[in-house]
Amino acid sequence: MTNFDYDLFVIGAGSGGVRAARMAANNGAKVAVAEEYRVGGTCVIRGCVPKKLFVYASRFGKDFKDAENFGWSIGDVNFDWATLIANKDKEIDRLNGIYIKNLKASDVQILETRAVVRGPNMVYLLNEEIEVTARTILVATGGSPFIPEFPGHEHAITSNEAFHLPALPENMIIVGGGYIAVEFAGIFSGLGVHVTQLYRGPRILRGFDDDLCENLTAEMLRRGIDIQVNTDVKEISNSGSGYRVDLNNGDIIYTDLVMYATGRKPNTANLGLESVGVELNRKGAVVVDEYSQSSIPSIYAVGDVTDRVNLTPVAIREGAAFAETVFNNNPTGVDYDNIATAVFSEPELGTVGLTEAEAREKYNQIDIYKSLFKPMKHTISGRDTKTMMKIIVDAAGNRVVGCHIMGPDAGEMAQILGIAIKMGATKEDFDATVAVHPTASEELVTMREKWQAPVAEAAE
Ligand code: FAD
Ligand code: NDP
Repeated sequence: MTNFDYDLFVIGAGSGGVRAARMAANNGAKVAVAEEYRVGGTCVIRGCVPKKLFVYASRFGKDFKDAENFGWSIGDVNFDWATLIANKDKEIDRLNGIYIKNLKASDVQILETRAVVRGPNMVYLLNEEIEVTARTILVATGGSPFIPEFPGHEHAITSNEAFHLPALPENMIIVGGGYIAVEFAGIFSGLGVHVTQLYRGPRILRGFDDDLCENLTAEMLRRGIDIQVNTDVKEISNSGSGYRVDLNNGDIIYTDLVMYATGRKPNTANLGLESVGVELNRKGAVVVDEYSQSSIPSIYAVGDVTDRVNLTPVAIREGAAFAETVFNNNPTGVDYDNIATAVFSEPELGTVGLTEAEAREKYNQIDIYKSLFKPMKHTISGRDTKTMMKIIVDAAGNRVVGCHIMGPDAGEMAQILGIAIKMGATKEDFDATVAVHPTASEELVTMREKWQAPVAEAAE
């Protein structure tokens, strides 16, 4: 039998890599993980965690205002960006420490270096300048922000830099209409920055339920975010202490900062994968089978580098399924159906299952239940804002196949709804559930009227 230095060599200590490394090691494997930046990966260091801390920070201003009609006198309020950054960094350091501790506790060797693949069983460590061998290699290198090429693109920052801005700008442009653009528009606007969001298509959050997108757009406009759709950037150039941004519609905007949130690309550049025969797709993602195995049998890949569903809990699932398959002799795939997700916009979105458009495509007949209402808190606060709940039902079996929410804690609701929908709950099950009163979510179990499309719309 061939002797390898390791049973498993993991490249990338992010969500997927860390879970796989620990589980394989706990099953008795000799494991090393290489990390070129910081243990914890995107989610912990410059993704979900710092983003959510920023989201919390951004919501206080509105809460202070809302409190006034409840009898509170708030007086002058001030926000200090430097305090937020320092406390956020402290928390990230703490989590980074926990990840390192957990890996060590599982006897996983941590190598602080960039690693590249040199053969089906060989990895080269750049800092150490050595080659090591492993029976199995797991590529868990994640992804990086993508900025398209155009004149002046180098002036734009991405979410990576947004977490370390030396000061808050007075105004900024955010380009993109996906998760990150929408979340950061809410964050910066909540912190007092005048935000212009530019999106190339007709409606932000393409792929989400149309009602969610429309209602979120209305809410964001109401909060002062200037969303300009069917608009793209032609050129960015320096102008005084800021930038001049020329748009494809001929308009010019002068701004302090331009942030691009136009997607992420899998980290496979200069990783040596093609040279050992690992198949990559058009976007550069590693092509894998249901067990995360690549075209080279000893090389597997999990998480964003495979560009399946680019979310932390999915990367963790894939890492765990890989370890179970390869190091516990129990072939295990990941179920990608009905993954609940949240967009931490302002207001928040929570969603699970099919959109209305997808359900219409899939089923002969669907029933829609939806409700757009002013949440109780705002009857007194006076804030002009709405919450939306929408349930999509396959009329044949009455099974709930999609649920979409916009409003406070929508993400928390989506998590719980995910269980019901995963279990195959029917509309009758929802109706048989006694409401929790007074809550916003009671709407989910009290909607009885099927939504009818207005006559003109129905005729289309
Ligand atoms: P990563 O976590 O990216 O880890 C990859 C690691 O590999 C990195 O640490 C990198 O430094 C390292 N690496 C890369 N190449 C090498 C190499 N050659 N050698 C050594 N190390 C290498 N998901 C959610 O579910 N909820 C959210 O709220 C959410 N918010 C997000 C907010 C932002 C701003 C961003 C950018 C992402 C967010 N995501 C969110 C997505 C989530 O962060 C990713 O899906 C998740 O981190 C993917 O995990 P991963 O293990 O595949 O890769
Ligand atoms: P997304 O894929 O969500 O959105 C990218 C946006 O950029 C889309 O609106 C897209 O438009 C637009 N775009 C793409 N290319 C161009 C271009 N060349 N010029 C102009 N616009 C362009 O990516 P994000 O960067 O927002 O986030 C990356 C991923 O990270 C997400 O997809 C998600 O998986 C994960 N994430 C999850 C979060 C959560 O769970 N809350 C939060 C943040 C990130 P179009 O729609 O027309 O293609």
